[in-house]
Amino acid sequence: MSQTFAAHDLLFKMMISEAEIQERVKEMGAELTARYMDKNPLFVGVLNGAFIFTADLMRACNLACEVDFVRISSYAGLQSTGQIDLIMELKTSIKARHLIIVEDIIDTGRTLHHFIAQLKKQEPASIAIATLLLKPEALEYPLDIDFIGFDIPNKFVIGYGLDYDEQGRHLNAIYQLVEAE
Ligand code: 5GP
Ligand code: MG
Repeated sequence: MSQTFAAHDLLFKMMISEAEIQERVKEMGAELTARYMDKNPLFVGVLNGAFIFTADLMRACNLACEVDFVRISSYAGLQSTGQIDLIMELKTSIKARHLIIVEDIIDTGRTLHHFIAQLKKQEPASIAIATLLLKPEALEYPLDIDFIGFDIPNKFVIGYGLDYDEQGRHLNAIYQLVEAE
């Protein structure tokens, strides 16, 4: 796997390898299996970024489970826009269901903070968050995050579902922006 990747006008370098991701996803799957055995949890993947992580995390679990997807916010370029829109809603009724919200990355926490407040109104049995990546230094909104793949520094990253203006989602590793000196 290549150590660098060029997307549009920017250069990225590898931060987390494919092997490291796969190992961590397996561990998270084992944790979820233990926690949710006989609860038939509903994985709620947040599109587009979490599509690969959701697929891998589900397959790392060994239990009865279901999946649905939402599409929430716009994230144009490198900065969070502050705009929360539910563009695509859940098809599944979540009342009395055990939800596992699956995110690619939590930055400020704004997206999930607002989304979870909306979900609670529909009275699920429980809500947990599973995120592949967390930027602890960037977190601004209160959020209980149950399952974290990796804490990363406050860098812009792509790969494994994450994009820079739609490029880079197909990469099997996580790449960080190389900043100009
Ligand atoms: P938050 O609402 O937590 O500030 O932002 C969460 C969303 O912003 C993520 O789901 C993701 O779509 C986007 N985001 C935050 N940081 C990054 C990043 O470093 N790279 C990419 N590609 N998207 C990010
Ligand atoms: Mg996302």
